[in-house]
Amino acid sequence: MKDASPQTIYLKDYKPFGYVVDDVHLTFKLVPNSTRVVSKITFSPNPDATDRQFRLHGEQLKLISAKINGSDVSPVMLDDGLMVDAPNETFVWEAEVEIAPEANTALEGLYMSNGMYCTQCEAEGFRKITYYPDRPDVMSVFTVRIESDLPVLLSNGNPVAQGEGWAEWHDPWPKPAYLFALVAGDLVNHPDRFVTQSGKDVELNIWVRPGDENKCAFGMEALKASMRWDEEVYGREYDLDIFNIVAVDDFNMGAMENKGLNIFNSSCVLASPETSTDANFERIEAIIAHEYFHNWTGNRITCRDWFQLCLKEGLTVYRDSQFTSDMRSAPVKRISDVIELRGRQFPEDQGPLSHPVRPESFQEINNFYTATVYEKGAEVIGMLKLLVGDDAYAKALDMYFDRHDGQACTIEDWLKVFEDATGRDLSQFKRWYSQSGTPRLAVSEKFEDGTYTLTFKQHTPPTPGQDVKEPQVLPIAVGLLAQDGTEVTPTTVLEMTEAEQSFEFSGLDAKPIPSILRGFSAPVVLERTTSREENLFLLEHDTDPFNRWEASRTLAREGLIAMITDGVGSDTLWLNALKTAVADSTLDPAYRALLLSLPTQSELAQTLFEQGVTPDPMAIWTATDTLREDMAKSWADILPALVEETKVIETFKPDAEQSGKRALAASVLAMQTRLDGGAVAKAQFETADNMTLQLSALTCLIQADAAEDALKSFYDQWKDDRLVMDKWFGLQVAAAKPADAAKRAKTLTEHFDFDWKNPNRFRAVFGGLAMNHAGFHNADGSGYALLADWLIKLDAKNPQTTARMCTAFQTWKRYDADRQAKMRACLTRISETKGLSRDTTEMVSRLLG
Ligand SMILES: [Zn+2]
Repeated sequence: MKDASPQTIYLKDYKPFGYVVDDVHLTFKLVPNSTRVVSKITFSPNPDATDRQFRLHGEQLKLISAKINGSDVSPVMLDDGLMVDAPNETFVWEAEVEIAPEANTALEGLYMSNGMYCTQCEAEGFRKITYYPDRPDVMSVFTVRIESDLPVLLSNGNPVAQGEGWAEWHDPWPKPAYLFALVAGDLVNHPDRFVTQSGKDVELNIWVRPGDENKCAFGMEALKASMRWDEEVYGREYDLDIFNIVAVDDFNMGAMENKGLNIFNSSCVLASPETSTDANFERIEAIIAHEYFHNWTGNRITCRDWFQLCLKEGLTVYRDSQFTSDMRSAPVKRISDVIELRGRQFPEDQGPLSHPVRPESFQEINNFYTATVYEKGAEVIGMLKLLVGDDAYAKALDMYFDRHDGQACTIEDWLKVFEDATGRDLSQFKRWYSQSGTPRLAVSEKFEDGTYTLTFKQHTPPTPGQDVKEPQVLPIAVGLLAQDGTEVTPTTVLEMTEAEQSFEFSGLDAKPIPSILRGFSAPVVLERTTSREENLFLLEHDTDPFNRWEASRTLAREGLIAMITDGVGSDTLWLNALKTAVADSTLDPAYRALLLSLPTQSELAQTLFEQGVTPDPMAIWTATDTLREDMAKSWADILPALVEETKVIETFKPDAEQSGKRALAASVLAMQTRLDGGAVAKAQFETADNMTLQLSALTCLIQADAAEDALKSFYDQWKDDRLVMDKWFGLQVAAAKPADAAKRAKTLTEHFDFDWKNPNRFRAVFGGLAMNHAGFHNADGSGYALLADWLIKLDAKNPQTTARMCTAFQTWKRYDADRQAKMRACLTRISETKGLSRDTTEMVSRLLG
């Protein structure tokens, strides 16, 4: 059990470790509950350090023996490791420890999943394997010997030798311990090869449990495409003889970029048309790319300390979104990313969990793998690129790789290459890393004597620990349109640095219509009251696909808010304009599907809250449902043509073209279901030959209260497929009527197949509940209480997943006094649990404020 009074760690307290690690030799004698780990590590005094204290991290280890230069030593045992007197010169540390992988349900360190051994060391899991300076700035070369009867024995780097019951691996690239990995199991591989641009022949494998080998082909193609893309776009080549990916069922995260041996949550790599949706395929492609890209941005150049997590994550998320834009559609990717940002990062940044992209303190680093570090971190890179331009960005990146290869770096190092490559002073831009909260941007306009002036005002509301904010550098992409819809000023990036600043456009014949924040050029909330007419005009004419979508989204949001607060009907002018756009077959179907997506109910709650109105989740649900109903009724005449247009007759391919058609078809089916009670959906469910069609039909049937038979037959068909069963569990809760959601979730937790210790299954049910806005916030508090009960139960087994799922409560202060009291009571009940983990303790105390 972890200690009850967690320590806070501060960025400003950073000190280098007293020793450097010259090399590491590890031997693993694998036994489910008594694995022996023998380490032999050479340490030398670190010339950059003054403090020569020899203190190693270690948790949940049983020390069998410890030696320095061959002689037994008796270390002082500490809560989080050990300490011993060490020579002020090069020496060899040897230790033998015993660990219990089978009993490890936290899924950090070495653990077992379905009879297979695997590891998860980021951020601080290596200290549960052996005593070591478990910090990212300590990098070393690892040699690993694995002894086990299992047929497949893998570690980082290249294979050196193997025999009956053992294998040896050597990784020539110095790395921090968080990138260490080991896998041993009865696995089968999907092999391939890749020749790098300089002619190096690389062996590629995806390792899976027997029976899953037919679900690897897509992942392998995605891997090869990623390797090629990183060569072509960033000039980065792969650097080992072999690259292994392993699929694991029990995994806290999506995937992990361990050097040469990526370990994936099986949901993020296994794919087949029958079992995976188009969204799954796209996500798998992106995650494989993301983990592969870490080989350079994260592994070859790593983070000095965990405060710098955004250095590797922001950049790598930015790189994987560039990759997806190139593979698929750039506007569709951009809009999807912004929906995600507003759905996850904005609420985080506007609530009690708000923190800078580079936090300055933490108790448990696992709690900072957040949308702010990842997604806002990526937005910051996108802004930087927009400000310096594509050529300077490429030059700076080349300099970054040249200058820092093999190093553990900071945000200062990262910004310095941009300053050196461009001559710019980025000291103000750096605030994006230290200042938390979402900036608000107000705009006013003036037209006089052919000159059009835009005046912007920015301010960022206070966030926990930061009352006063300084102005940020904002790249504001603007285009100007004439009344007839032609573009009079193409996209121009304005660089705002002051709290208030004006920009002029001269030589205009008439007052233009502005299109502001094109491509969502900065992660801000634009506070501009735009007339309905102007948004309708932009929906029809804007040449920027993002802002065209944004105009419709704004109209949808304003229309829904008016329905909720003033009891008015649906905005028919907007519905008609949207109908014209959706029926326009010259537009990409995937883009049209996004035009049809309404603001989420949580987003509407946030908007109401900001307008000083206490959001009523049920009223939000009702307005959204009414709008959907009106949309279906008034669009009945265009549905047959859309059905025809979105039919896919070719063999299934999860590519942009086909998946776009299926996405639009799913929206059309939802409208048809409102008109026919589910007849078409039922037929589609029965004949579907791929998961995308099957699941979209099932969703419609659940929403139409006509899914009882379909849910049974879906279960019978897929009960042996763990990943498809996660969908079955999740969808029933996420798509349930508000009054049924918590009951449905409770019933499912009693289901024979509810394996709550499996993070995917737990997240399916409770992530589904949290996603069902009106269901989770049901006035009787049953949603809150159920989640709290289960979080308390899970914390004893898996602190990391528990803490992360606590974020379902992060918006609690938005709601009425009664709901607030109920949520606060749940959080308090969690916090008062005996033996609560460090992860969850920190999270709940931040949520309570
Ligand atoms: Zn990552």
